[in-house]
Amino acid sequence: MTNCKLSNLTDEQQKLLEAGQLLPVMEMFYSIQGEGYNTGKAAFFMRIGGCDVGCHWCDVKEAWDASVHPLTTVDQILENLGNYAAKSVVITGGEPLMYNLEPLCQALKKENIRIFLETSGTCPLSGSFDWICVSPKSQQSPRKEMLQLADELKVIVYDETDFAWAEKNTTLVKQQCRLYLQPEWSRSKTMMPRVVEYILKNPKWMISLQSHKYINIP
Ligand code: SF4
Repeated sequence: MTNCKLSNLTDEQQKLLEAGQLLPVMEMFYSIQGEGYNTGKAAFFMRIGGCDVGCHWCDVKEAWDASVHPLTTVDQILENLGNYAAKSVVITGGEPLMYNLEPLCQALKKENIRIFLETSGTCPLSGSFDWICVSPKSQQSPRKEMLQLADELKVIVYDETDFAWAEKNTTLVKQQCRLYLQPEWSRSKTMMPRVVEYILKNPKWMISLQSHKYINIP
């Protein structure tokens, strides 16, 4: 299921990783979702380390190397979550679908937690989710079946070529999939007016802002 092999693991740890009982968790925190469809909702975030997509503008490059992030059990994740009033969990990365997310999703469901996934769509699905946001990256195209499963398509706009990339990805999503364009943060001054102009001409799209960055929360 998982396509992730971490170095320096014992056989037992590798087995637990593949079974989804251990995950290299970079950080966990309780905050407010700042982007996309679920903007404004309080949620517990867990960022899983490991990603090989390689976006040059990635703002979480420290997530790329999974081996530097502590292997964390599903029970430890649940215990941490229990410290907060959270009713929703955002599973993000890195690329979280490099791992088997089934045991984590099952444990969260038992606690009646809503689960939102943020993925580039480059790996097969594992686990079950209340909301799937696919954010396709031109460096590594998303899998067709992941686009078909998306409740939300969120395309990061770094430059003009991303509008054509965004349109290309719409051809595979289901009809009710919400379509978002999000100016890349470091380029937002330049690209924000272009995104606004594009949406005014193509109103099937909505704008997604990284509002957590504007209000200075994680
Ligand atoms: S897919 Fe996400 S985590 Fe991976 S490189 Fe791109 S922006 Fe960074």
